[in-house]
Amino acid sequence: MTTYHLDSALSDDMKQVRDTVHRFAVEVMRPAAAELDRMSDASDVVAPDSVLWKVMDRYKELGIGDPSKYDPDLSPAERALLHAVVLEELSWGDVGLAISVGLCDTIAPWALGFGRQEAYEYFSKREDIGCLALTEPDHGSDHVGFTEPIFSDPAVRPSCRARREGNEYVINGQKAAWVSNGTIATAAALFCTMEDSKDGLKGGAAFLVPLELPGVSRGKPLDKIGQRSLNQGEIFFSDVRVPEAFMLIEGPDAYGMVWEMVLKQANSAMGQQFVGVARAALDHAVAYAKERVQGGVPIIQHQGVKARLFRMFSKVEAARALARRVAVEAAVADIPFQHAAASKIVCTQTAYEVAHDAVQIFGGNGLAREYPVEKLFRDARASLIEDGENDFLGLMAASRL
Ligand SMILES: Cc1cc2nc3c(=O)[nH]c(=O)nc-3n(C[C@H](O)[C@H](O)[C@H](O)COP(=O)(O)OP(=O)(O)OC[C@H]3O[C@@H](n4cnc5c(N)ncnc54)[C@H](O)[C@@H]3O)c2cc1C
Repeated sequence: MTTYHLDSALSDDMKQVRDTVHRFAVEVMRPAAAELDRMSDASDVVAPDSVLWKVMDRYKELGIGDPSKYDPDLSPAERALLHAVVLEELSWGDVGLAISVGLCDTIAPWALGFGRQEAYEYFSKREDIGCLALTEPDHGSDHVGFTEPIFSDPAVRPSCRARREGNEYVINGQKAAWVSNGTIATAAALFCTMEDSKDGLKGGAAFLVPLELPGVSRGKPLDKIGQRSLNQGEIFFSDVRVPEAFMLIEGPDAYGMVWEMVLKQANSAMGQQFVGVARAALDHAVAYAKERVQGGVPIIQHQGVKARLFRMFSKVEAARALARRVAVEAAVADIPFQHAAASKIVCTQTAYEVAHDAVQIFGGNGLAREYPVEKLFRDARASLIEDGENDFLGLMAASRL
């Protein structure tokens, strides 16, 4: 394991959890991710004999995904810190898999969080693979941008819409190929728009939708350059009837506020996850620089390489400090959106820059599939768009300053 932890805030029990997750990352996630990343057909990633399912099973056995199930004696701040440690380790292993397996534990907690007891009882009996379905082919940033005029523009007609009929909601339309776990999820947290909305996207509603319901269908798994171990794909809804008990919130008074809360949590989690990616790139670069001999000495002895490694190290430390500060603060207070956005933007940009530098330190080998850093570079590149494109998130956050 990297020696770079300043971990006096972690108890011995927390360190034990970290070490267990680290072993899982080394022994299970990394070999599986290397295999999944090389698959030329994205459908093979989710084929019945794919190693993905073994990773999911082993992850569930670890019982680490839902922080509410951690040691009950932990304070909210300690729980958040431990979860940040877990997310970093999993993502150090492979961020695509970390995101995919991390969504497994999300559906029943959504119901609990929104006080929907009947939905909680229903979903807590299932072992759902979850997803968060928001993006549509014609509305990506529009759906994210709760601070922007477009969000409440009545002229915007999104694809995926719901109407109420008696004690059910009827959903029609589609979500984009970017939905993570889109073709394998068994249930979705669906953010869509009410058919009679007078406020455009802001007149939305959120539902928990079992994806075996009649009228649900899927697209093909998406082929993309980074996070190839993370399944993504479209979800289509044709007259899908969802009981009102599975509705989380509805209408312009609640929707924007709730979406902001969800985006804050997602952005904060992304920050913690991409610290793991940045650290993985740093670890590989340091190890390689100590082994690779050029000019008669290990390249770490060349001043330019040494200076680059220290810049990488400093960036990882700074990103981790921000990500954990935001995560811990969010566990005890309602943090402003700009802090969560800063965590996501800084940490994903850090992962991208550190992975870029790692490729440089590996020289030509950095570009070769045989070595691990080109994959980290591709994984980090995707993160600059994931969960809200970084420049756009920055504009949203700036409107709150
Ligand atoms: C790896 C990955 C995982 C993802 N997972 C999910 C998921 O689980 N669920 C889900 O629903 N979605 C998911 N997404 C989708 C993601 O949220 C969107 O890709 C993102 O919000 C951007 O939307 P878009 O791709 O449609 O780009 P667009 O909205 O078309 O943006 C294109 C460009 O225009 C700029 N732009 C757009 N609007 C404005 C504006 N008003 N002002 C200034 N600039 C603007 C953007 O900043 C961007 O540079 C994922 C994406 C990736 C890459």
